[in-house]
Amino acid sequence: MALARFNEDRCKGCKLCLTVCPKKIIVIRIDRLNEKGYHPAGLTEPQKCIGCAFCAMMCPDCVIEVEK
Ligand code: SF4
Ligand code: SF4
Repeated sequence: MALARFNEDRCKGCKLCLTVCPKKIIVIRIDRLNEKGYHPAGLTEPQKCIGCAFCAMMCPDCVIEVEK
């Protein structure tokens, strides 16, 4: 199963990854705060991830790793 993993403490909540996900499963987790004080990005329905890695390529802070 493919899965995008987010290193949440590196995320600055810029939302760039949200714009490129073809499955629209990335959201800003307003229920969480990371160590920098940002609401980090994460997956709503991880089982829908297809492992395309568009999110990882778009992220300027190397927050996302994709497993296939
Ligand atoms: S790997 Fe592709 S499908 Fe999975 S979260 Fe990233 S952009 Fe979305
Ligand atoms: S592109 Fe990277 S830094 Fe920006 S919200 Fe997504 S995971 Fe966080």
